[in-house]
Amino acid sequence: MNKLIVVIPCYYNEESIIELMDDLNLCEANYLKINDDKIEYIFVDDGSGDRTFEKLMSIKEQNQEKVKVIKLTGNFGSINAIMAGISNGTGDCYVTLSADLQEPANLIFEMFKVWKKGIKLVIAKRRSRKDSLFTIIYSKIFHFLLRTFAMKEAPKGGFDLVLFDKKIRDFLVNIDEKNTNIFYSIFLFKYPYETIEYDRKPRKYGKSKWIFSKKVKLLIDSFVSFSFFPIRLISGMGLFLGIIAFLYGLFIISARIFNLIHLQGWAAIMVVLLFVSSFQMIAIGILGEYIWRSLDASRNRPIYIIDEIY
Ligand code: UDP
Ligand code: MG
Repeated sequence: MNKLIVVIPCYYNEESIIELMDDLNLCEANYLKINDDKIEYIFVDDGSGDRTFEKLMSIKEQNQEKVKVIKLTGNFGSINAIMAGISNGTGDCYVTLSADLQEPANLIFEMFKVWKKGIKLVIAKRRSRKDSLFTIIYSKIFHFLLRTFAMKEAPKGGFDLVLFDKKIRDFLVNIDEKNTNIFYSIFLFKYPYETIEYDRKPRKYGKSKWIFSKKVKLLIDSFVSFSFFPIRLISGMGLFLGIIAFLYGLFIISARIFNLIHLQGWAAIMVVLLFVSSFQMIAIGILGEYIWRSLDASRNRPIYIIDEIY
């Protein structure tokens, strides 16, 4: 008998929670007809301001022994909420699921079956999705940049769900990183993985709380965590600009010697000045992103705070 832990971060999901639990119960019953395993659901309320927590407690009431509810003191973001979930449950493997019904519930049982064949990491990849054009384009760029410059091991295109063995869970809990993206940290451990494809459904209730600024933060977090490419890029650009400056300098000196300069060049100076100084600001900003994160890591503040576990 094996135990699967399903971790579900919840943030303003009052409309979908009950339906989600019904779906899960149905798929679980089907699964357990032919398998002898144990499933535990850990719901993490990530500081929702609506009635999510009450709904979770009513689920807990009806499914006493297989549901755990973790209430965080406020909003820490889904990645930290998932960390809270996997850190507070012991099973043989762990899977993440979102609370908004966008992924079919039976998918996690399909992933569990793959794990039971001995694969320690299983990834659910979107075959198709029904989200806004902006979300789709942003997600494409996000995953392309990360795969190209930061984590070559990641699968092409986006993925939302991962199922991993308890060994990987222990690594994740123990590396104790902040401002990171555990969906990509998983590839640091180099376990071979299998992918399952699925069609992502449109969001039935409410709107995604992944607002643009959070998405940008996650992109930068992922870059800083897994890649030094931006720093290389600054050095590369610096070198490139240096070579151009040197050649242009040679040209100016020879033009001066041969009396070819007749007080021109204000426009050229302005353009060069604006270009180089804006490049310098961007470069400082990029370094700042790295330095701030290293400061934040050294401060050792918790990434989430649990109010209560039910
Ligand atoms: N979520 C969370 N904290 C947040 C934002 C989102 O726990 O600050 C949860 C949310 O409740 C959902 C999952 O993360 O279960 C995925 O979020 P969402 O559906 O908004 O994102 P998307 O579908 O755009 O990936
Ligand atoms: Mg969603």
